[in-house]
Amino acid sequence: MRRRSAAALVFIFLAATLTPAFIQQAHADFSRPVDVISITWPHAPALTTSVSTARKEVQSYTIPYWRSHASIEFTKGLDSSAPVSMSVEVPCNGDATVTYMNDVANKFYGSQGLNSNNRYLVILSPKISKNCVWAAKSIVGDYKISFGISIFQDNAQPFVITHELGHALGLGHTNYMSCPTPGDSDWTQCQNLEYAGAVDLMSNIDTSAPLNLYHMWRLGRMDESSIQSILNSGTYTINELSSGSGVRGLFIHDTEGFYWIEYRKAFGTFKAGLYIYRTDTPVAATSTSSPNPEYSGRYIGDTSGDAWLLNLGDYQYSAHPTGSPSGFHFATHTGNVTLDMVEVGGQAVVNVNVKPGVILHQMPPTPPDLTKYTFATTDFGSLYEVEPVVGGNALTDPTLQICNGNFPSEDHRVLRTQVSANPIYQSKYTFISSEAVQYESAYWAAQALKEIDLATAKCSAKVAQIHPVSYAPPAQVSARSLISVSNSNKKTQNLLATFQVKGSTMVGTYVVSNYDFSSVEIARWLKITKKMGLRL
Ligand SMILES: [Zn+2]
Repeated sequence: MRRRSAAALVFIFLAATLTPAFIQQAHADFSRPVDVISITWPHAPALTTSVSTARKEVQSYTIPYWRSHASIEFTKGLDSSAPVSMSVEVPCNGDATVTYMNDVANKFYGSQGLNSNNRYLVILSPKISKNCVWAAKSIVGDYKISFGISIFQDNAQPFVITHELGHALGLGHTNYMSCPTPGDSDWTQCQNLEYAGAVDLMSNIDTSAPLNLYHMWRLGRMDESSIQSILNSGTYTINELSSGSGVRGLFIHDTEGFYWIEYRKAFGTFKAGLYIYRTDTPVAATSTSSPNPEYSGRYIGDTSGDAWLLNLGDYQYSAHPTGSPSGFHFATHTGNVTLDMVEVGGQAVVNVNVKPGVILHQMPPTPPDLTKYTFATTDFGSLYEVEPVVGGNALTDPTLQICNGNFPSEDHRVLRTQVSANPIYQSKYTFISSEAVQYESAYWAAQALKEIDLATAKCSAKVAQIHPVSYAPPAQVSARSLISVSNSNKKTQNLLATFQVKGSTMVGTYVVSNYDFSSVEIARWLKITKKMGLRL
């Protein structure tokens, strides 16, 4: 994404995106330390806020917010004692701001002997001399990658910091599609109001209300078991959005419209009822309203992460929104699907009517999160740091390399993620790693194991000596475990490798040492290996 939204009466945010070369996949339960620093430049004005103020807000508001709303655990990172000195002020617009943010991150982390992987950086900037409309700007990330950089223009408000970390986790804005009549319309008649879907904090309103259904899905907190796709007429019962279990949403894909439907209890001025968002690109909307000069006129950006709240009621957006966008009746803009809801015992019972002959489509598959299969920080304790491996989520790096074998299954991998567990003290192990691979099908995952058998059966002793290791995998998991002894730079290299397959997923666990493995060690590593197998 080149660019991303802006605007508001009270606060203005802008999130830019980029794909820095140093982003790597991280475990979903990686630590996510939030570092807070400030910057300055020649003749910069003084900050009216401070690192300690921002830190206080991060600890007391932002961290509890993401824990309670999305079970995402940020932790306390570093606070800089002195501002990072930059040679020029922050550019206001475009890619230049993003480049600058990366420069700040590289300068700060370089001075600490760290890199920016696995960290979230909050940068407090003095006010920019030009009239620069945004309060904060973030690189839009992905919750599966522990990485984020956000910059704040002399602003350390807790809600602003929390909103920006939402961008770092991959969320766009909760916008509002203002149509001439309540409910849905053909979007050529509607106006796209950036940030104005004030149901949650990804708008520009400070609220502790739950994140919307679509954003919860993006964060991997809702999957096919918690959001039901409507394909046919019928009665659908959904739990309240923040109930934490069961079906909590409905999805309709009717022609170009993608609809995400949730049921909320009354909160603030908002009434109980259905809340509905569309997530198809509003290119046809009459106009886009935003104070940000980078984002005005027609919507031209991509929509990844943005949701558009529809108004089923008497909602009116302002700095203090009035009315409620909720409702009990709804029809998609084609009229193909109608919904009528009643509240029964704290649940929404939704009667859905689909016109005969209309074909609706399933919700897009939840993107698989392979990081749940690899090592977690909790597998090792505090003497190890679990970190992404460079290139660990690229398919260019091999999964199978045993004995220089032939591995056609490599071309049938669709996703891969690899992490390493690095001892913080010197260790006899040179590499401890786990890798999860999603194949096109269960067939290719099974083939991978067969290819290992073939390669090891005819392995030349000049390449490696292979010793099978006895390992009993968990039920329904197929496995191969072996020790491969080879020479690298005149040193003997012992690799204990276990490959475990269930369905179309494989998990590899690799431990490398220049010393022979004792039977006690092997048993210890296989115990961790089994833990990985049980996650499949
Ligand atoms: Zn924003």
